[in-house]
Amino acid sequence: MDYRLIIFDADGTLRYCTVEGQPCPNRAGEWKLYPDVIDKLAPFDWVHPGGEFGVGYGIASNQGGVGVGYFPESTAMKLLEDTFSEAFGFNPAEGTIEMCPHVPHSGCGCRKPDPAMLNRLMQLYGVSPENVLFVGDRDADRNAALGAGCDFQWASEFFDRDPES
Ligand SMILES: [Mg+2]
Ligand SMILES: [Zn+2]
Repeated sequence: MDYRLIIFDADGTLRYCTVEGQPCPNRAGEWKLYPDVIDKLAPFDWVHPGGEFGVGYGIASNQGGVGVGYFPESTAMKLLEDTFSEAFGFNPAEGTIEMCPHVPHSGCGCRKPDPAMLNRLMQLYGVSPENVLFVGDRDADRNAALGAGCDFQWASEFFDRDPES
């Protein structure tokens, strides 16, 4: 699987919420990486957009809590950037974190399963869908990948993880 770009969902894929009964973190200190993430991502030769060699990276995350009013968009983005930095061991380049801050069923055109966020990341790297993998944990992720025409892998498979964990 020689992908030129691998995109990750965040919640339930890279990180989990440490607050019981809450699906996603609302503020710093409310999330942790799954314990397998750092070791699994470390061997890849990650490359920033515009770089010549290596594997591109990105995050595509629905953050409906913003639209609902649980936390501001800037907080959601900061939490995603922090998640990325801890997972990958370096800071994400401009444009590599895609987030939909809108509530479900708003017709915003970016919330997964809409493929728009994946399409933007593919455009950023200038790669075609057959060279792209999206890793996620929900049907909305799988359907976004289908819509974008790229490959999809469940987080449990990619990270070799017990789906119940
Ligand atoms: Mg998820
Ligand atoms: Zn949206």
